[in-house]
Amino acid sequence: KSFKQDAGKSTQQEPIKVAVMTSGGDSAGMNAAVRSAVKMAIYKGAHAYVIREGWEGLVRGNEAGSEEGQRTPTGYAKGNDVFIPTYGEGDLLREGVGEADEIGLKGRYIVRVGWDDVRGWMSEGGTLIGTARCAEFRERSGRLKAAKNLISCGINALVCCGGDGSLSGLDRLRQEWSSLVKELHDTNKITSKQAEKHSSLRVSGIVGSIDGDFSGTDLSLGFPTALTRIVEAIDSISSTASSHQRAFVVEVMGRASGALASSAAISVGADYVFVPERPPSVNWRDEMCDILRRQRIVGKRRTIVILAEGAIDSDLNPIKAEDVRLCLEKQLQVDARSTILGHVQRGGKPVAEDRILATLQGVEAVNAVMEATPETPSYVIGIRDDTIVRLPLIEAVKQTHQVSEHIQNKQFDKALALRDPEFIEGLSTFDLISHVDSTIKLPEKQQARIAILTVGAPAGGMNAAIRTAARYCQARGHTPLAVHNGFDGLVDGQIAPLSWIQVDNWAVRSGSELGTNRHLPDRNIQGVADAITKHKIQGLLLIGGFEAFLSAKILHEQSEKIKALQVPTVHIPATLSSNIPLTESIGFSTSLNEVVNAADTLKRSASASRNRVFFLSCQGGKEGRLAVFSALAAGAVIVYTPETGITLQQLDADAAWLRKRYQLDTKGKTEGRLVMVADKASDAFNLDALKSIFNEEGKSLWSTRGSELGHLCQGSNVSPIDRCRAARLARKACEFIEENVGKQNTMPAIVTINGTRLDIVTLDKLIEASDFANRRPKELTWLEYKELTELMAGKKLI
Ligand code: ATP
Repeated sequence: KSFKQDAGKSTQQEPIKVAVMTSGGDSAGMNAAVRSAVKMAIYKGAHAYVIREGWEGLVRGNEAGSEEGQRTPTGYAKGNDVFIPTYGEGDLLREGVGEADEIGLKGRYIVRVGWDDVRGWMSEGGTLIGTARCAEFRERSGRLKAAKNLISCGINALVCCGGDGSLSGLDRLRQEWSSLVKELHDTNKITSKQAEKHSSLRVSGIVGSIDGDFSGTDLSLGFPTALTRIVEAIDSISSTASSHQRAFVVEVMGRASGALASSAAISVGADYVFVPERPPSVNWRDEMCDILRRQRIVGKRRTIVILAEGAIDSDLNPIKAEDVRLCLEKQLQVDARSTILGHVQRGGKPVAEDRILATLQGVEAVNAVMEATPETPSYVIGIRDDTIVRLPLIEAVKQTHQVSEHIQNKQFDKALALRDPEFIEGLSTFDLISHVDSTIKLPEKQQARIAILTVGAPAGGMNAAIRTAARYCQARGHTPLAVHNGFDGLVDGQIAPLSWIQVDNWAVRSGSELGTNRHLPDRNIQGVADAITKHKIQGLLLIGGFEAFLSAKILHEQSEKIKALQVPTVHIPATLSSNIPLTESIGFSTSLNEVVNAADTLKRSASASRNRVFFLSCQGGKEGRLAVFSALAAGAVIVYTPETGITLQQLDADAAWLRKRYQLDTKGKTEGRLVMVADKASDAFNLDALKSIFNEEGKSLWSTRGSELGHLCQGSNVSPIDRCRAARLARKACEFIEENVGKQNTMPAIVTINGTRLDIVTLDKLIEASDFANRRPKELTWLEYKELTELMAGKKLI
């Protein structure tokens, strides 16, 4: 909630000057991080700067005469010097700063920016301010130049977004700062006044690295996008592989980290994976081919092997894609191809998760520097269990390096232990669901018949959950029973065992292969009980949203009277509205990305028409989470939700704000703007009404258009985040059933997921946390993002 605090506001007579930079390999989301850091700095009363070309730019600095003050701000909007002191560089930066000669950036690597200079940066891939590898900065002499350049521009706070190398550099700069200042002063490169004013440097880091190998944070910027690009590529490869019964070996990035490889393997339903933290033995060829051969025997038409770039065997011999391909051709006698995905993975347009993560981290990185004192440690901003956290920079960097050291020393267990639990759990789940022959079968007496059904509206990841549940059941000796068409199908006996091969391609599919509807079990509760008895069902796995939750509740309430209903029941939250209390839901990420893609398209259309305000409505029931997260990720200026409703007074204020905002646009560069509307935000002010009202209010400043996404929100490309989460949730759900088979009166449970944390929560806790009238949680922790969206739009400044 720190964006709400006034703590750390630049109240000094002389504003704090915050510079933002990107360094190391580019990653999707870097622009969104720069955007939010710049905006937050300005919001807090600081002056914002960007440093072009990473550490290289900082070492070069600005040529004499090109510093701020020598230049006249362009596009300066009179009467609002806080809000839009636009220096007009944003467009210049966008157009390709490498050839900056004609566009006024030659010889200037440290550039003052205003609010509107970072407009539209959210959806851009790579980094618009450039990045570079800089050998000189590794030397003290380079850092001395960097310090001199920062001091010359009066900059006293630095936010750096990059990988572990870049952040190591940041840490060294901070640690050496006093001695650098002393040397500059002793050699007359800076004045005594400057030395005194710059006696300390405030720094903070944002992890921007696609490998996902930075310690202490659950997610690093660029990882979700890189994973999405990998999964898109392998999904395409899978269909051709299947058509020709081929094997494909795909190498993905990750020198010392298998995070991308293992997440991709789970997401696409691959057949074998190599990661550096858990190398196979030197006999990997035989071991791999045994597993793949068995899969072919049960009917698999294609084989996908995923290999991290840094894959090795237990003797540290590198394993390359070509080695694997040759082995498959020779030992498995299949037509095998290899693909090295390479720079495609850097990502391009960031997915919604990267934009949101970047925005939150940019905000927090600025908060950290604004609040810093010479005594506070340097922080790197990360995310843990869905909460943005500040991690001590030195320790996090040290721990990150330790993984590589452990691998080099063949201490693989130690390397693995330093990875987050999600990674370790992901690998073991992958083994479990990809191997045909199980080594973990339970004794016959403990094997159970487990029915799997989807309830309510379809959501991305439902099929991935069914796939893992079915495979888990098979590995343990249980019988997974597919129930078609929800509780109606159960009553009608539309039940059949699922085979290993049947679910093979399900990880990638949207919708529900089993069929789903909103009917609850109380339509025919006795029929449900009879079906459970007739089919000897010993456990029920429900996958769905609020209907699945209500179904579990009904079954439990009726189970006192009807004993047959006393089978362990577990619910996996799957709904695009994510309206189940105490948890996030699978399906949300898929829908979020679908809505954000549509929003991007409309925003560009609105901007092309220069003065259009686009209203985009999305589903979500009485929960506005999808609308708010989409608004934050797409850079909408206003978002309407059912929780806050819409009043005349609010519409009046919003129209007045839009008017001011349009009047402040640089002449000839009026922007299109986006308003997100949750489709149940208001009965009276629906999409058409909003469109008409704002059209009327826009007069000569803007016109409005509207689009309703409706069921398109469900999305057709299941996001890798949903696929991976589905696998984890399904496994945990099956474990719950397994532990409770045969026990009477077990209270139904839900498997909750918050960030990377999974928990089993009993039905009573869920009931307690529910607002049944509105079908949403009582506590809405995410509502603060509505405020953040508006802050990023500038609503708090004019
Ligand atoms: P990626 O994850 O893409 O590799 P990275 O930030 O780790 O990103 P590096 O090439 O390791 O990328 O580092 C980027 C730059 O940071 C280097 O070119 C160098 O200028 C600086 N840097 C890296 N390590 C150090 C260090 N130990 N001391 C000072 N500067 C460093």
